[in-house]
Order: sequence, then structure tokens, then C-alpha cells
Amino acid sequence: MKTYRIAAIPGDGIGTEVVDAGVEVLKALAQRAGSFDFQFDHFDWGGEYYQKHGRMMPEDGRDQIRNHHAILFGSAGHPDIPDHITLWGLRLAICQPFDQYANVRPTRVLPGITSPLRHVSGPELDWVIVRENSEGEYSGVGGRVHQGHAIEAATDVSIMTRAGVTRIMRFAFQLAQGRPRKLLTVVTKSNAQRYAMVMWDEVAAEVAKEFPDVTWDKAIVDAMTMRMTLKPWSIDTVVATNLHADILSDLAAALAGSLGIAPTANLNPEGLFPSMFEPIHGSAFDIMGKGIANPIGTFWSAVMMLEHLGEKPAADRLMRAIERVTANPDLHTPDLGGKASTRQVTDAVIGAIAADNT
Ligand code: NAD
Ligand code: MN
Repeated sequence: MKTYRIAAIPGDGIGTEVVDAGVEVLKALAQRAGSFDFQFDHFDWGGEYYQKHGRMMPEDGRDQIRNHHAILFGSAGHPDIPDHITLWGLRLAICQPFDQYANVRPTRVLPGITSPLRHVSGPELDWVIVRENSEGEYSGVGGRVHQGHAIEAATDVSIMTRAGVTRIMRFAFQLAQGRPRKLLTVVTKSNAQRYAMVMWDEVAAEVAKEFPDVTWDKAIVDAMTMRMTLKPWSIDTVVATNLHADILSDLAAALAGSLGIAPTANLNPEGLFPSMFEPIHGSAFDIMGKGIANPIGTFWSAVMMLEHLGEKPAADRLMRAIERVTANPDLHTPDLGGKASTRQVTDAVIGAIAADNT
């Protein structure tokens, strides 16, 4: 029997609540499948670790998870620690050195969930946003001098490389090609940013030639927000820079009903390093510790993890269980307008896995 070694890194806030729920659901799924198993290794990295040790994860932290088959991540973000320290000290400290350059973010309106776009005519929205996850605006290049003085200066330099843009464009075109509509929108801002974004557009056009069966267009990021809300049916697969896709995917999640249901995969497509799966939301300080965090975003991320591991039947079974549960409004957490707890939703998904005879 195949055993997958999974590094579970809950992090902070509701990250711990939803990752615990995700581990339970994955264990139930392995039991139901009978053909594979999980070994979960838990890492207590994050804000509390920082308060004890002065860093978010140990110096050799990456070596401890380098040989795992995948990483299940919760959230980095602690009420008493500045956000740039928690984010760069944990999530980006894994994504960047492990070269998880393709961040994939699917959006669908799940059964039983009401989209704020319900009055917009057209077919249900079904998008995948591909986020460049290794460079661009979050390259980490920059600096600050003369702190606190009137002459203080600060920069965050956006770095784009031909290699980096080419590989994310290829990834996105390939993904679009594998979807029924074969439709890709390249998000840009090359009107105002006249160097890197112009190269971004040029590389998109070059890579497009390798995919003659994919229809593609360009959208300027500000206009893209309007298109997502007013013409959602005109969109299928989307590729955007690190910053643009970060923002557009929170919008996409909200348009699908809640930030609490949206999943993401941070992929190293070449498999040189483990890939990382996480809900797109953060620590949600306003609801942490209350037992009402929506675990669906983590469960859906687990579906993506199973697909990545090659366990497609188990991935499909988990997605069916998720959809059976969202279809019942009595099992909606408060972010979806319901009264259910994380516990109740988790139990219901585990029950639906056991009851699935497909
Ligand atoms: P957030 O995603 O934590 O919360 C935004 C809003 O959505 C809150 O009202 C929250 O209650 C709600 N929400 C989010 N997930 C939910 C869920 N599963 N169920 C129900 N409601 C949910 O974003 P924020 O408030 O801007 O950030 C809080 C902290 O999290 C910050 O420290 C930030 O840096 C961090 N953060 C981390 C990540 C990450 O690690 N990937 C992502 C985003 C934010
Ligand atoms: Mn984000």
C-alpha cells in the first residue's frame, strides 16, 4: 500500500482549526479508499513558535519537509506580530525556495451556495486563476533607508524575468488547453507599466503560438474587475502577476459566495520540491477560536492535493462529499449565512465520504 507523507503546517489563527479538520477528512478518505494511506507530520511553526524562538520556523525547517509528498498549509498571520514578518517568515519562506511558481486558484459556485452575481445572466461561473508565484511585485527586492526621518525612502521593486514569465505563460496555456472552453485571459497593466508588463505581454503572444487551439485575449487589471462582476461568463482560465492575481482571486472567491471556500495549490510543476496546498484565506482574527471557520476551502485544497498525488478517484469522492454538504444550507457556516460549526461541517463531509458508494 502506498503511504503519502504529508507535512501539516497549520500556522496561526483559524489555520489551526481548518487544517485539523482537513487532516481528519483526509484520514477518513484514505480509510474509505483502502488503497493508500497518509502519514501526517505536524509542524508547530508560526506566531507562537516565533514568540518562543524569534523566528517563524527553524533554520533547517525546509530540510525537514523537503522529502514529503506534499504540504498542507493553514495560514501565516498573528495578531501580535507584523504581517510582513509572519508572511515572509513562513509562507513565502516555503513557496519561494521550493520554487512553487504556479499558484492555481479555481472558482466555482458550489451547490447550495448563493453567489452575489446570481442576478447576472449567463452560465454559472467556472474559472481558474493562475498566479505567478515566484517573482513580480513579491520578489522581495527593495529596501528602506533613513527610517523615521523626513528623507526616508522605501522601495519594493517588481522583478520580472523572461524565464519566469515564459514558464507561467506555458503553464497557463497548457491548463486552458485542458479545459473544455480552451479560453485564456492574460491580465496586464502594460499601459501604465511600460517595461516589465510590456515584456509580459510580448511573452504571452510568443507562447500563444505554441497553443494554436487556445483562444486568448488580454485584459487590463482594473477593467478585469469589472468584467468579473458584469460579464463573468466571458472568463474561463486567467493568468496574472503575483499581485494582480492575489487581488483578483479574493474577488473571485467572494463572487463564488465566500473567501472561506476558496482553495489553492502552490505547485512546483517539475516535482523537484513538494507542492503546497492551502485555503486562500488568512488567519481571520475576527473569528479565530470560535469554532466557526469554514473548512471547505481547506477540503477543496485537499482535493487539489489528491489530484496532484495522482489519486483522482479519491479526489472526486471528496469533491462529491463537499458538494453534498454545501447543498444543505443547514450545514453552512456563518460566512455563508448559516449557523453550522467547523465541527458539524467536518462531520458531515466525513459522513458523506462513508456514504458514497460510487
Ligand atoms: P482573512 O482571510 O484572514 O480574513 C478576511 C475576512 O474573511 C475576515 O472577516 C474573516 O473572518 C473571513 N474569513 C476568512 N476565511 C474564513 C473562513 N474559512 N471561514 C469564515 N470566514 C472566513 O484576511 P485578513 O483579515 O486580511 O488577514 C488576517 C491575517 O491573515 C493577516 O495576518 C494576514 O497577513 C494573514 N493572511 C495570511 C494568508 C496566508 O497565509 N496564505 C493569506 C491572507 C491573509
Ligand atoms: Mn491573498
